[in-house]
Amino acid sequence: MSCPDKRVRVALQGVVQGVGLRPYVFDLATRHGLSGFVVNNSDGVLLEVQGNEAAVDSFLASLPRLLPPLAFLVDMRVDPIPVEARPGPMEIRTSQTGAWRNVLIAPDVATCDDCLRELRDPADRRYRYPFINCTNCGPRYTIIDDVPYDRPRTSMARFEMCDACRAEYENPRDRRFHAQPNACPRCGPKAWLCLPDGATIACADPIAEAAHRLARGAIVAIKGIGGFHLAADARNDQAVRSLRARKHREEKPLAVMCRDMDEVRRLARVDDHARALLSSRHRPIVLLPKQPGHDLAESVSPANTHVGVMLPYTPLHALLLDDAPACLVMTSGNVSEEPIAKDNQEALERLGPIADIFLMHDRDILVRNDDSVVAVDGGKATFVRRSRGYVPLPIVLSRSGPCVLAVGADLKNTICLTRGSMAFVSQHVGDQANLAAYESFRDAITHLERILGVEPTRVAADLNPDSMPSRWAEECGLPVVHVQHHHAHVAACLAEHRYEADALGLALDGVGLGEDGSVWGGELLVANQKRYRRIGHLDQVRLPGGDQAARQPWRMAISHLIHTYGDAWESHLPAPLRQVDASKRRAVAELVRTGAGSPWTSSAGRLFDAVSSLCGLVHENRFEARAAVALEMAAWRARDRADAYVWAPRSRGDVIVLDPSEIVAQVIQDRTAGVDTASIAMRFHRGFAAGWAGACAIARRRSGLSTVALSGGCLQNRLLARLLTEALTADGFDVLVHEKVPPNDGGLSLGQAVVALHA
Ligand code: ZN
Ligand code: ZN
Ligand code: FE
Repeated sequence: MSCPDKRVRVALQGVVQGVGLRPYVFDLATRHGLSGFVVNNSDGVLLEVQGNEAAVDSFLASLPRLLPPLAFLVDMRVDPIPVEARPGPMEIRTSQTGAWRNVLIAPDVATCDDCLRELRDPADRRYRYPFINCTNCGPRYTIIDDVPYDRPRTSMARFEMCDACRAEYENPRDRRFHAQPNACPRCGPKAWLCLPDGATIACADPIAEAAHRLARGAIVAIKGIGGFHLAADARNDQAVRSLRARKHREEKPLAVMCRDMDEVRRLARVDDHARALLSSRHRPIVLLPKQPGHDLAESVSPANTHVGVMLPYTPLHALLLDDAPACLVMTSGNVSEEPIAKDNQEALERLGPIADIFLMHDRDILVRNDDSVVAVDGGKATFVRRSRGYVPLPIVLSRSGPCVLAVGADLKNTICLTRGSMAFVSQHVGDQANLAAYESFRDAITHLERILGVEPTRVAADLNPDSMPSRWAEECGLPVVHVQHHHAHVAACLAEHRYEADALGLALDGVGLGEDGSVWGGELLVANQKRYRRIGHLDQVRLPGGDQAARQPWRMAISHLIHTYGDAWESHLPAPLRQVDASKRRAVAELVRTGAGSPWTSSAGRLFDAVSSLCGLVHENRFEARAAVALEMAAWRARDRADAYVWAPRSRGDVIVLDPSEIVAQVIQDRTAGVDTASIAMRFHRGFAAGWAGACAIARRRSGLSTVALSGGCLQNRLLARLLTEALTADGFDVLVHEKVPPNDGGLSLGQAVVALHA
């Protein structure tokens, strides 16, 4: 023979168990004519293969490339070992027993094509069975209570597999080999329909009946993977309006679920990238521009150029959408800002006043997990919310350290745990505004600690002692590392890119407490994953009434007018602000003058609010960032018509300052001259991006750093993100943007964790 024989031992770590990895290795090795074995162990999967050198090398090259869908490799270690004299055929060995704490859990992923085929095949024993799954698909994270991951530690424990299911489960050549949620109509979970009082509605096919009622305008609460949805026909304006009224959600856009890609195309513009995301196994909600002439009810996302769309991701959704209207509103099953309901009884109590009927099932959801939301622009995807379908996949860091728990921000809360060099950012926990949210926060911590098998030795929390997560941190008994909000934003971005050196960090954000006690939010830093220095910022204005300013952009408009024109502010008052009661305007002006309860702020987000209000777009933020989103939407309408406001950074000692009065004055001049709002909005965006790019150029001259990390809630603004990236790239900067966690406060816990890890 031409090639000598070779034997290697391969250790695979990551999400490698219960995802069909052993059968995959077995098949691949067999096809390469290799002998050896594959086995699960406490670190993941271990295998040894032997054969001629070329075949072994080809096997090793293919191994990480053709992984089964749920597998996620964190590490693959290959060691050559002595060849065995008489190797037997390739075999799958039974698992070693021991501590299994290092094995990772897969996220919940969408139903695979094989399962969908069986679902619709009248000859299959799982025909129309809404809980069909296999090793390549189905729920994982939300049904697991503890590790090691096997059936007794999942919410499938009480369903004993029938003989047919068990045979599949135990057969290494079967697609359901060790698929823990494996089930069938004989032995598995069941769905039923009931009224808000819990009384079962007798019907032959609860899913078909639910579809039927949706078509007739009903609001249906549907139990899914990570919680309940509230569904209604998205073309039935009356149904959507009553859903909004009952849910106390006036304007915030509602997501929709479409039957298939053709239906998505009817409603929205979809490019290749968006299509790939929509049909990926993660199945996020993707924010897409509405198709001109679409026939969605206006009340789905009023006054918004975009709509959040997803495709069915469970067999239950697939069956429902086969019969229901082709596009359903599918919004989180909660009342306004509370956490999503997940238990049957809880859902009846909390959603009873909202839903007409409930589509229930008896597979318990052990942890809440909202749908993920992704924005796409020019081939780039940015998380708005990273949750179901992605969590708990780790983010691999550039170094390892002690186990850290980071508790995140007050708004859009997530928590983060580190283990070795991996960071695990939790599902979306949400705004910490009430007791239910606080309980959800604590549940997220204990659940993640348990399934990772870790005990943190230190806690990372925001500087702000009043934030709920910070208060929890102070009382938890562990040493606390305080991390400044905008350093955490930038550190999260650096960590994603495993960027160890110093970089410029531009945090364009709502608000976060600064080291000097003022409220920061438009910050230029020199930062690494350990420390930072503030080298530039937006010039400060008053935040009239503190938190109230975020809810009432007109307050910021007045603050910025006073900053720009001093006592003469009223003579520059644009017409739209006259809609606000004169006595209220003067009261706010008084707050600005005296500073009572009105700290100084350099917030970029609040400047967007102010300009939105000055343009007459939004005076009241009935949901978070409504004013800023309206300004972005207005700017998109101007496309290439408008130029940029002139906005030049200045040096104040060592500090680079951008003075908002210069850009606000141009807004007012344009308004006085009768320029249309779209052009004003676009000029503002362009000037704002150019101003910061200019500030970065000065910072580069002073520091020698030519890499910029962009972060903060304002980067959710796709137009701003694009303009900034273009301007900085054109000027020769290397630009780092978020790809793995959101730029908003949902990504904050990652940044807090890495700073504490390095501390
Ligand atoms: Zn499947
Ligand atoms: Zn069965
Ligand atoms: Fe923030």
